[in-house]
Amino acid sequence: MTGTPILNKKCPICGKQAILEYKPFCSKKCADIDLGRWLKGSYVIHTNEAPTDEEWSEQASSQSKEEKE
Ligand SMILES: [Zn+2]
Repeated sequence: MTGTPILNKKCPICGKQAILEYKPFCSKKCADIDLGRWLKGSYVIHTNEAPTDEEWSEQASSQSKEEKE
């Protein structure tokens, strides 16, 4: 496979390009965040679940580079 199948949509969590595998999200992380919001929506629990800037930039750089294997 060359590259990751992407969707012509943006991740509703972080606004990055969504990929087919985790649609409509860009990554499992964002899917988990969304799932967490749903689950926690029925409770009133506040947590700091936002990913760090480092994780974001890491994702961004890995997306900007073509996967060459
Ligand atoms: Zn995302």
